[in-house]
Amino acid sequence: MKKETLAIHATHIQDETANSVATPIFLTTTFERSADGSYPKGHMYSRNSNPNRDALEKGLAALEGGARAFAFGSGLAAVSAVFQCLSKGDHILMPEVGYYASYKLAEEIMGPWGLEVSQVDMSSLPAIEAAIKPNTRLIWVETPANPLLSLSDIEAIATLAHGRGIRVGVDNTIATPIFQNPLALGADIVMHATTKYIGGHSDVLGGAIVVKENDAWSERIQRVQILMGATQNPLDCYLLARGLKTLPIRMREQATSALDLAKKLENHPQIAQVHYPGLPSHPQYALAMKQMPMGQSAMISIQIQGDETRARQVANALTLFTQATSLGGVESLVEHRRSIEGPTSTTPGNLLRLSIGLEHVDDLWADLQQALQS
Ligand SMILES: *Cc1c(COP(=O)(O)O)cnc(C)c1O
Repeated sequence: MKKETLAIHATHIQDETANSVATPIFLTTTFERSADGSYPKGHMYSRNSNPNRDALEKGLAALEGGARAFAFGSGLAAVSAVFQCLSKGDHILMPEVGYYASYKLAEEIMGPWGLEVSQVDMSSLPAIEAAIKPNTRLIWVETPANPLLSLSDIEAIATLAHGRGIRVGVDNTIATPIFQNPLALGADIVMHATTKYIGGHSDVLGGAIVVKENDAWSERIQRVQILMGATQNPLDCYLLARGLKTLPIRMREQATSALDLAKKLENHPQIAQVHYPGLPSHPQYALAMKQMPMGQSAMISIQIQGDETRARQVANALTLFTQATSLGGVESLVEHRRSIEGPTSTTPGNLLRLSIGLEHVDDLWADLQQALQS
């Protein structure tokens, strides 16, 4: 079945009370036990499982082509579940460029628990190979990665890792399962901040892990989900399953607008540089075409002619783009990354990150043009 069809049907729950077409929401913490002590519908307590969580997890696993999925209360809760599969003394190799808080989690929280972490240029295979240690158990990949939308070659990294008994986890938040399926490229684990494109409406925080196989790590992630307890509540699972239904169509439309805008921005005299993996000028364009041939998602970073003050002027002059952190919603956002990342940031001061939403592309272009000319 195609992804559009899976997205609609994989999360369906057959309602036995009223045959409702829309999914009912099971706002219950607990489920009735039979006289013989069994749980006939398979649910006992909502931290362990809930029909809405099951439905969402089934949908995510189907779209990623994985054996199982696990939903958490935030993207970071999902990342930490993977890290918690490791043991004291294990080493995680993480990207130099990637979601800042994922690295902070490894360093600040998992560090004192005995995990070792180091960072590497995840777009360079020789650098990755050189950074692998005897105790490396996990390579954490994020592609495309913020804020320059640099790419990592999942297939090549998986080959390198598997030869050494190392697992590969991929943060697939930006590409989404519509444009990139890391498991098919050899990764073992996929992570999503479902907060972003999967929810798609900037109203739910969530995270998910999808595993390729039902193996020891899959068992362990499930134990972490249940015992650490950062599970996702039924209402949010419902909203995310609803978001999943329109994900393929939203992604297609948003990525088409993003490519169109990236091309136009590249030719604008007020722009110094455009970072978008779908542009032939992107240093890893060939890899983008191989790894995400159907679309390169809807995040664009632009460097404005001029300094940080000028970039912030442009951001202030935009009217359709809301200045806010995060990404992946139907409404377009703009973010001055350097001032959010703080004094240790290596992001250029003249860089603005755009999350292209579902507004008409002509209106977005008109807004960008007037702001760049302001
Ligand atoms: C937002 C985000 C996360 C973290 O997700 P939360 O839901 O905020 O915890 C992780 N990785 C990427 C790429 C993200 O964009």
